[in-house]
Amino acid sequence: MTAVPNGTIRFWHFQCPECGTSDQEFRHPAEAHDIHCEVCLADNGRTVMLRRWPADDSALVERQAPYATAAIPAERDRLVG
Ligand SMILES: [Zn+2]
Repeated sequence: MTAVPNGTIRFWHFQCPECGTSDQEFRHPAEAHDIHCEVCLADNGRTVMLRRWPADDSALVERQAPYATAAIPAERDRLVG
């Protein structure tokens, strides 16, 4: 289970009770602020609460891509230069 220092769970497995969209289809977990189904919202304008449960660290592998850390030195260089 992944938690930030204040105890908030950051990544979640999810499934939409209306259309059935899940993190298995999207191949990445929901983040803490992702509480509504984006598919239902985009397709028919409905706001549907996702069914969510905490994701373990294995769900984060695809989110920890190299570009995530590579952006940090680039940002620093731009600020210095
Ligand atoms: Zn949905």
